[in-house]
Amino acid sequence: MRILCVMVIALAVVAPLVASDRPQGCAAANMNRIVEQLDGARMKATVEKLVTFGTRNTLSETQSTTRGIGAARRWIFDEMTRYAASSNGRMTVSYVSSTPQGPRTNNQPVEVVDVVATIHGSSDPNRVYIATGHYDSRRTDVMDATGDAPGADDDASGTAVIMEVARVLSQYPTDATVILAAVAGEEQGLFGSKGLADYAVAQKWNVEGMITNDIVGGIEGGSGTIDNRTLRIFSANQKGVGDSTSRHWARFVRDSARSWLPNVRPRLVYRLDRFGRGGDHRPFFEAGFPAIRFTEASENYRRQHQNVRVENGVQYGDLPQFVSREYLKLTASVNAVTLASAACAPAAPKNLKVAGAVTDDTTLTWDAATDPDLDHYELLVRETTADEWEKVISIGKVETYTFSNYPIDNVFFGLRAVDHDGHRSPVRTPEER
Ligand SMILES: [Zn+2]
Repeated sequence: MRILCVMVIALAVVAPLVASDRPQGCAAANMNRIVEQLDGARMKATVEKLVTFGTRNTLSETQSTTRGIGAARRWIFDEMTRYAASSNGRMTVSYVSSTPQGPRTNNQPVEVVDVVATIHGSSDPNRVYIATGHYDSRRTDVMDATGDAPGADDDASGTAVIMEVARVLSQYPTDATVILAAVAGEEQGLFGSKGLADYAVAQKWNVEGMITNDIVGGIEGGSGTIDNRTLRIFSANQKGVGDSTSRHWARFVRDSARSWLPNVRPRLVYRLDRFGRGGDHRPFFEAGFPAIRFTEASENYRRQHQNVRVENGVQYGDLPQFVSREYLKLTASVNAVTLASAACAPAAPKNLKVAGAVTDDTTLTWDAATDPDLDHYELLVRETTADEWEKVISIGKVETYTFSNYPIDNVFFGLRAVDHDGHRSPVRTPEER
């Protein structure tokens, strides 16, 4: 893998205009091409297609070939299977199902089925990055399983995004595994995502980053303000941790967007979610994985969870005409550059510890990495009140580092791994007691 990447760079210097049809090197070496291939019109067409199933309520009928959640998921499965067929064997598609129950299933067990596309990593397949959208939808009454519930923005938009990222990213090799999943049961209680998180734990996947794309296609807020540049990225801190892996994952997204997408404004929000709302990152976050939420800049509540109707001349309902194909492309681009960057970088450092209480020196230790193309580590330092790392210190391929005459108490310390091609892992910070 490393030799291939080096070759591509060498070729690019000599003949930058020659583009072979066969991608070489890790996906991250083809980033501009990946972003270019993401097709906003295709995603908009996917949103429109999903709306034609009438309702995708998790409790809706599953036998019809044209209406209800069963028809919708079979269409998603068939579509992604077609993408997999031209992935050179890299991508496979499967169903992951569970039978949860709760107040929003009338306390009866309901089969909740996720459609899971897996781009298998070539050198570190058990390290997994996951992006999801939920393909179920709802009316004002979440228990109404028969009336129309278009759910164009919530969340055919997120479903269209992960399908498009699967289509394009599966054309390129990655070191780690990338999973693009259309999950169900979100509106009934985050059930499909819980099923997938349970599956990840049971399979002992090392999930180093999860993103839910939910309400990611609209650009007009309720007050009429238009924002087609900002994407909100919600992340929370686990309890008792100085700086959580979810926050580091959110910053990794921001930095990937800054590197590759100059027109995008990534807006970090240091909360698990919006007030009074839930999302599919939650089951992963609660399982201890780095998990965050993407949502458009300002939501329009007349277009969410509302029966389609006109009241006093105002259109209510979650209709496709309110979904922007340019914004779908923006969201898909942030997913793609993040997932490609992460899946081509080394794993984040493990078991990072810091010592130095009541002494003049600070010593960091961590586990030796197993990545074959690991080149060196970078130590990072910032004031506890700062959000961005202020000092980056390149150190060798070592497992310990001591700052002499540098007290532990006044700053945050971080560490990330860098490979031979300069791909950087997300940062890890030591647990603080
Ligand atoms: Zn939603």
